[in-house]
Amino acid sequence: MRVGVVKLASCSGCVLEVVRALTEAVGHLRGVEVAACSLVLGESRLEGFFDLVLVEGSASTERHVKLLKSLRERAGLLVALGSCAIEGGVQALSNGRVEEAKAAVYPEPGLVESVGGFTPVTEVVSVDLAVPGCPVNYEAVKSLLLKLSRGGLPVEIHESVCAE
Ligand code: SF4
Repeated sequence: MRVGVVKLASCSGCVLEVVRALTEAVGHLRGVEVAACSLVLGESRLEGFFDLVLVEGSASTERHVKLLKSLRERAGLLVALGSCAIEGGVQALSNGRVEEAKAAVYPEPGLVESVGGFTPVTEVVSVDLAVPGCPVNYEAVKSLLLKLSRGGLPVEIHESVCAE
């Protein structure tokens, strides 16, 4: 099972839960290869077909939108991880005022690439599963990985700090 882990506009909290899930389940994940993780390896490794793509964050650039559409075509299962991917996240509160927010935060806001807002992954492409939470619970990610690696679909619900 070839897995890709993708981070868009987000805080990386959900990806860290994925790392914890992988660390705890490593001895039980038969045939699972984490082929790409954009947080640590950049996006250059996100090539080819993936059996499973886990996406954290919301889309805020043309590059994000293009990457999501490309991954949708190359993913057996595409999973939205966490509030940012499912609903836009706290950063989506600045939608409609992105230029104002950039000017308040960055010394050179013109250098910050943006399409003017934060769009949930679920509004850019169709997803096969959505794992709620902020962050997602690593136990939920672990059970997802274990079940998929054995040929089943995850069904357990795990509480998160902010349940949706
Ligand atoms: Fe961070 Fe929460 Fe977004 Fe996950 S859902 S990336 S923890 S802000």
